Amino acid sequence: METVVQKSLRSQLLYRQERLKDTMRQVPNAAHLVNLLQEVETALERIDDGTYGICHQCNEPIEPGYLRSYPLVTVCLSHLSGDQQRAVERDLELASKIQGKLLPVPHLHLDGWEFAYRYEPLGPVSGDYCDVVKNNDGKDSVYFFLGDVSGKGVAASLLMTQLHAIFHSLIAADLPLQQLVERANRVFAESTLTTHFATLVCGKAGSDGVVEICNAGHCPPLIVHDGVITRVGTTGFPLGLIDNSRYEVRTVQLHNNDLLLLYTDGLTEVRNSSEEEYGEERLASVVRNSGHQPPKQLIDTCLNDFTAFRNGTDRLDDLTIMVMKRIK
Ligand SMILES: [Zn+2]
Repeated sequence: METVVQKSLRSQLLYRQERLKDTMRQVPNAAHLVNLLQEVETALERIDDGTYGICHQCNEPIEPGYLRSYPLVTVCLSHLSGDQQRAVERDLELASKIQGKLLPVPHLHLDGWEFAYRYEPLGPVSGDYCDVVKNNDGKDSVYFFLGDVSGKGVAASLLMTQLHAIFHSLIAADLPLQQLVERANRVFAESTLTTHFATLVCGKAGSDGVVEICNAGHCPPLIVHDGVITRVGTTGFPLGLIDNSRYEVRTVQLHNNDLLLLYTDGLTEVRNSSEEEYGEERLASVVRNSGHQPPKQLIDTCLNDFTAFRNGTDRLDDLTIMVMKRIK
């Protein structure tokens, strides 16, 4: 029987397979995508024939926490010497601390916006990218980012730190949002393995309430404008998939108490014991009823509903949720 980790890995691989096939229909002769698709299919076979996550030495399942951090290990943590085990634990602890330092302050007011977020890795480290960066060009605007690197564990968390570095260095160049994302995509595609990519929503919010937003293949963020909920669908491919990809930018004007809610699929793709998915609709209905709450409280309300829905089933993925509310 499949473990929770395998189920999660399988659904991620299937998603990736679907995306790749989609992309290949639009970009003929993409040789690297053919290889990538093969790798994904091989990993799916390993899950199917039951060899994924099984220790080569003792034929028992590898410790789930260890596998989560290092999805490609083939031997149990317990077969390592005491010194080796402690080294792995120290590395993970350090990686987790470094990652924590890259997060924005949990609750902040900037340029007529109130931001709050919750960042909940599944293991010691996360492949989610969450950031809020004040624009230093004197134009009273702030950049926001919420992304999800494909894959899991330490490899995904390394790529998350890379996204952080790429965006921080590009923001200093003061580019229009579309160019910022296109350049970030190019740099990320050049520097990452072909097996990895990142979905991302990012944008720029001005003190005048104008929000520019770009969705690189990520779960659609919710906008609550004058009490009406709309979604921002995909405006381009995930980052790192195609190096010369184009991205469109949507612009919305938000008023006092309007808000934007961003999240990763660790929230919407969780299943309860009846195999029902939490889903975007349920999230939207919570936001519809509680959108008047301040950001931090709205996030608590969403997570309480998420916990009630799961009713004890395991989370399968890193989870991040961010709310930004106009307060002018
Ligand atoms: Zn073993």
